[in-house]
Parts: sequence; C-alpha cells; structure tokens
Amino acid sequence: ILLMGQRSGRQEISKKPEVVLSEIMEAEIEVQSNKEETQEVKPKNQKLMSVFGVADLKNAAVGLYNLGQSCCLNSLLQVFLMNIRFTRILRRITVPLSPAQRRSNVPYQMLLLLEEMQCGKCKAVGPTELARCLAEHRVKLFVQHDAAQLFLTLWNLLKKQMKKPELVEELSDLYMICIQEHLACQKCSLETKSNSTMLTLPLPMLDANSYRLKTLEDSLRYFFNPEELTGQNMCFCQQCGRKTTFLQSTKLVHLPQILTLHLKRFYFERSSCTYKLSHSLPFPQELDLRKVLTEDQCLADDREKATWQYQLFAVVAHSGSTSFGHYCAYVWSLTECKWYCFNDSEVCQVSRVRHVSFAPSWTLLQVSSSLTGC
Ligand SMILES: [Zn+2]
Repeated sequence: ILLMGQRSGRQEISKKPEVVLSEIMEAEIEVQSNKEETQEVKPKNQKLMSVFGVADLKNAAVGLYNLGQSCCLNSLLQVFLMNIRFTRILRRITVPLSPAQRRSNVPYQMLLLLEEMQCGKCKAVGPTELARCLAEHRVKLFVQHDAAQLFLTLWNLLKKQMKKPELVEELSDLYMICIQEHLACQKCSLETKSNSTMLTLPLPMLDANSYRLKTLEDSLRYFFNPEELTGQNMCFCQQCGRKTTFLQSTKLVHLPQILTLHLKRFYFERSSCTYKLSHSLPFPQELDLRKVLTEDQCLADDREKATWQYQLFAVVAHSGSTSFGHYCAYVWSLTECKWYCFNDSEVCQVSRVRHVSFAPSWTLLQVSSSLTGC
C-alpha cells in the first residue's frame, strides 16, 4: 500500500532518488549522519509538518509487539497513528459510557493505544486490547491478512463506531476517492454512469497482454484506460435487446487528502493457484495526478485538480510468498524529516524506502497532502 498526501501547489523538484520496489525487502538501514541532507528537506516540508508525523508523539516512534501474525495489523496501525490528521479526528470521539461498550469500540481502543504509545517509556507496546476488540468484530487474529482488505475493515469499523457525523465526514475527506464509472454500448447510444467511492485505488501490475507495467504512473494510466468488453465479457444492452460490446471506463472525480494506492500483486492461474507478482515497480516520491492522467480520464474542475499533488507518506510492504510472509510499514516523519521502518516492536530509521517487495493485494502506498485550501 502506498499512502500519499496532497502537497502544496509549489513546484519543486525532488532531490530524493526514485523509490524502487524489488523482489527483496532490503531497506537500507542507516543512521542519519548527514545533517545537511536533513536540513535540506526541512523547509520543503514545513507546511506538511503540521499535518503528519510524530509531532503528535512525545516519545518519537514506538513499536508494537507482534501478538502472533499481527504484523499486518501493526503496520496499518502505525500508518494511521503516525498521521496527525487522523489522530486529530480520533481524539474528538465520544467515549462510550459503559465498560462493555468501551471494550468493543474500535476508535476508543485505538485512542487508548495511541495514548499508551505516547505516555509510556517503552520502546514498544502490545496492541492486545485493540486486537481483542477487533476479534469481537470478527477480525481474525493469528492469520495472515491482506493489508488492503484489513485497511478497509478497520476503516469501516472506525466510521461506523465514531458516531458523530462531523467526524465521519472528516474521515471520508481524509481517505475517500470518488470516481464515476461509464458503460457505453458500442452499437447504440446507450450510456450509463454511476458514481462510487473507493478507499484505495487497486492498481494492476500487468496489462491485458500480461506484460509488466513499467512504473506506478503507467499503472495509474492503465487503471483509468477505457476497456472494451467483448466476447465473454459482453453486456446485455436494453436498447439493442441483445448482448453487445461495451466500452467501460472509470473517471476520476475527487481525490482525498490521503490517497491510498494498492498494487495488485496477486495472479490467479487456471489451476486456481495464487501467485505473487514480485517484480519491481518504481514509484515516485512525488506524484502529480494532473500530469499522469488525460482530460478524458478526469471529471474534475481546475480547483479540484489543483489538489492532486502528492508526496509519499507511507508504504505498507509485504515480503515473502502468498502463504508465508511478513509486513513492515515505512512511514515518513515530517517533523523529523526521516523515514521510519516499523517492523513490529522494532523501529529504526531508514535512509530511504526502496527495494520493498509487495505481495498479492497487500500493497498499500499512501501519499499525503499539505494544508492547501485548509
Ligand atoms: Zn446498445
């Protein structure tokens, strides 16, 4: 999962090298010794500093103990809790009245965990109560999760249990992507349009001919490319009264402050086996959707599009195979101007995020925005 945040309208050329995903998870672990580099990136992120990072944390980054295959949950929690915009919402929830309600309230348990991470003197804490609370809501423990799926589950539970409508709205503003889907009959004039929202953009790793897509931008373009539904995929046209070829297209309407991209690294064989596509897919530190997509692929005015500039904020990465593996979260701390790698209870600084392997449908990249327009 790539998590990206909207940035300010300023045009700046990234001095950071491109982030590259390869087959092996191999984040370079380096103690930040180059002070110049740290100072260099600071002014650039000043606006973002008030949005994200461990500024919210008095003790800097704190790990989470693995409770037994809870690395996926831990990674997603770090991505949520390192995001000040999210924690600002979390801090305003209504505390449930009864102890039983408090035990089963996901936002409340998440808030307690955040408090524990901030107030304690430990290098890591155990998310035991939150995990137990999630188990009450049928989120299985001790199994390997799909990060994109678990992200959606957590988000739905948060939204459902936050109660206050204004908080739910803010949560949607933070993460919800709006798209419009078009379906046009190629034999007549019939065209249907439907609006929908998504929490993540599920991006392909391969094109229709099973060729590897070269970059994240290629993958984004491919996702928004119209697709002709022919042969077995033909749809019934009410106007033509028979199955015809349709042109299906997705248009981007609105992007949230935190854009979550999900690389679909799963591959189904006819034998019903699932494989992981572990080839590398380079992704940039900065992403400008206006430059990636064509006019036809968007359904937004200039004001909306002006916010479509992002900086890489977090990566939830999986190493290993489809049945065995491990998750880590890489999160950019804007207060400290450095990347952290959260590997359960182990937290370390990494010089940059690259060579990260992604698993079948378990890849989340988050990009974040600045305070533009706020
Ligand atoms: Zn038709």
